[in-house]
Amino acid sequence: MATTMNKQKVVSQLFAALGKQAKELEDAPARPVLEQFIYAVCREGSTRAHADQAYQALQAHFFDWNEIRVSAPEELAEVLEGLAPDPLTRAQRIIGFLQEVFETTFAFDLESLQQKGLKQAAKQLARYQSANDYAVAWVTQHSLGGHAIPLDNVLLRVLRRLQLIDEDVHDLETIRTSLEHQVPKAKAALFADLISGLGQDLCHETRPLCQNCPLKPHCPTGQLAKSHPASKKPR
Ligand code: SF4
Repeated sequence: MATTMNKQKVVSQLFAALGKQAKELEDAPARPVLEQFIYAVCREGSTRAHADQAYQALQAHFFDWNEIRVSAPEELAEVLEGLAPDPLTRAQRIIGFLQEVFETTFAFDLESLQQKGLKQAAKQLARYQSANDYAVAWVTQHSLGGHAIPLDNVLLRVLRRLQLIDEDVHDLETIRTSLEHQVPKAKAALFADLISGLGQDLCHETRPLCQNCPLKPHCPTGQLAKSHPASKKPR
């Protein structure tokens, strides 16, 4: 199990080693709460580039949120086709979310959540059937000014391999709290983007490309793969 000091060292190395990508990722566009929620549905488990592309396609293909709300999930899924896995489930979640928002507010505007306390706003978001832990954390981080790192399977995989989270801890709230102590709030969104990019580009689920990874000298799993290439596969 990595010590707190070791974890902080790995976090510093991550920012140092991936500094070039960090510059490109810094300027994420600001979006209203409702739009951040929809973007989060696109972003979970996907790359930032694919999510950006899908979100832009969504806006270009449909006239407004109401048109998306009344569209068939299959039509929406076609527009989201670049998003793996499962664009149809994402399409159903987006339509379901817009429907719920419309039924309760007769509009497509959730900016009133900005006036509530963080906990209350997150609680209200979590009540939507299309919400999940990732979407609530994403909106909390990107629209509500909270310190909440959105955790999808890609992030969890890479963070476990880097031993920034403990192998035997699975509760997302506990993991998030631990990460929030390791990563300053001002850098948390960038941290999540960097880890996500690493997971998509190099730290694949099977056969991670440790030899090409700039974090290999600081990654316990990468080091293990070097010492015991045949007997120990990276998790
Ligand atoms: S060294 Fe290997 S296991 Fe570690 S983060 Fe890089 S790709 Fe993943």
